[in-house]
Amino acid sequence: MKINILSDYLYSLSDDEESLPIAVLFFAGRIFPQGSKFVMNLGYSTIIQVLSEIATLDSNQIQKIYLEHGDMGALSEYAVSKKNVVSLFQRERLTLSSIYGRLKEIADTIGSGSGKEKKSILKGLLVDSSPQEAKYLIKIINREMRIGLTEGLVETAISKVFHQDLKDVRESMLVSGDISKVVLLAKRNLLHTSLIKPLTPISYMLADVMFSAEEIINYYQKPLICEFKYDGIRAQMHKSGQQIRIFSRKLSEITNAFPELANGGVNLKLLSSTLFSDIDFILDGEVIAFQNGKPLHFQELQKRLHKKNLTEKIMTETPLLYVVFDIMYFNGESLIKKSIRERKEILSNISFKDPIINSIYKLTNSEEEIIAMFEKSRGIGHEGLVLKDPDSQYHPGKRGRYWVKLKKELDTIDAVIVIAEYGHGKRAGVLSDYTFAVRDVENNSVSNLRTIGKAYSGLTDDEILETTKKLQSIIIKDEGTRITVRPEIILEVAFDSIQKSNRHDSGFALRFPRIKNIRVDKNVSDIDSLQNVKRIYQKQVHIMGR
Ligand code: AMP
Repeated sequence: MKINILSDYLYSLSDDEESLPIAVLFFAGRIFPQGSKFVMNLGYSTIIQVLSEIATLDSNQIQKIYLEHGDMGALSEYAVSKKNVVSLFQRERLTLSSIYGRLKEIADTIGSGSGKEKKSILKGLLVDSSPQEAKYLIKIINREMRIGLTEGLVETAISKVFHQDLKDVRESMLVSGDISKVVLLAKRNLLHTSLIKPLTPISYMLADVMFSAEEIINYYQKPLICEFKYDGIRAQMHKSGQQIRIFSRKLSEITNAFPELANGGVNLKLLSSTLFSDIDFILDGEVIAFQNGKPLHFQELQKRLHKKNLTEKIMTETPLLYVVFDIMYFNGESLIKKSIRERKEILSNISFKDPIINSIYKLTNSEEEIIAMFEKSRGIGHEGLVLKDPDSQYHPGKRGRYWVKLKKELDTIDAVIVIAEYGHGKRAGVLSDYTFAVRDVENNSVSNLRTIGKAYSGLTDDEILETTKKLQSIIIKDEGTRITVRPEIILEVAFDSIQKSNRHDSGFALRFPRIKNIRVDKNVSDIDSLQNVKRIYQKQVHIMGR
């Protein structure tokens, strides 16, 4: 029933390429597409203030009415029906794109004094609305539509209206994560361009973090794939016919940095059948430097990424392994909607040739086994474990609890440099002090960075020089001895503990931070979240309390 109403509505918009994407976003309970840089940042109190101004009621009266209605949408409907503000001009008729434009304007208003400006745009929007429009506008803004539509139903409606296979709509959604793009592709009969195919890199599935086997067992309550976490460079290997290409975490091509793989890979064999040369695939895995049964520091490999020509010497000095832990495409078929249990099964039927190997993992729900496996992984020199829900699909570009990494407690976090200062003495003239930030994901935005520490140690003189050059190329504000920069340089920072602190706007500070690595392979969307920091903090209080 809902599907029919929704389909009829989308059908009525089917020639309007401007409104269609906005409509599906709103119905799917979003304002902006996933991954968009826009965040509303409009608190309840701002909305209440605007409504009280519109209805000329004081905040007590408004609070009382809110309690009676119990819902911001209904409150807005009421307030706008009592509208006393007279628009100087004729009320503008609202359209989806005019609403969207103004919501974008609200999101785009940032910095000091932005609160007032946001309020005034919202007020204008509500003044132009009918009571019923106001009701749904506020529901959309608060992401409280509650009309019983899920993204899944919107996908079904899209497939119906534009006569597309639901399977393709779903895969396109998994790949792009953006329903506003998918609806246009469906309409233009172009879904196939967004489906998975070899030689076109896809976003990586990412892992959340947990800090103990106990936490993991309690959370999942079922056997998990428990796999070594290898410390190297994430890489996707694509094979089409005789061609092999390798892509980095940032989806750029890095085939030339690893000739051993591009050449070795052609000789793969299928365990059960004969010829492998015609088979296409996409693999996910980690390239690690590995010698005499032990991993080497991954920076040795990173060096290769900057080299124009790889010499024999570099290749023999840092022998590598490509450890395969997933497969997203095989023999003409996308596998991302299959469970990882099935994907592992397919992988187990392929015998890779050195230097390509399958990862080491086992299925278990025993805390003791997880701990033993963790110790084994650390003993060899790997980083820890990644635990995976065996029933999970491959979710490109998503960080979620389908995969969780188990690292050593109070280990390292990834943060981004936001401010840099010139040093003293030997370090005068170079930017050697870095204030770094984590991401506040409560607002689901990469633009919400919160500082958490300042580090001056851990880098070599050469690295500081190189970082100085980079920082100087991304200046936003120059104050002489210190500069504010675009958040682009990612640091992996080790620390002793986390404390509460007013010094940084995250409310926390790392104690004794040391820079362990500059993570050129990562970007700002990969850094740790403030919420993770809070969890580490709580965990550590708990440990200390014990
Ligand atoms: P982190 O870089 O700390 O966010 O940890 C996630 C990264 O661990 C992934 O992006 C991979 O590069 C790497 N990794 C190493 N081993 C595995 C594994 N078995 N499964 C998934 N990711 C892994």
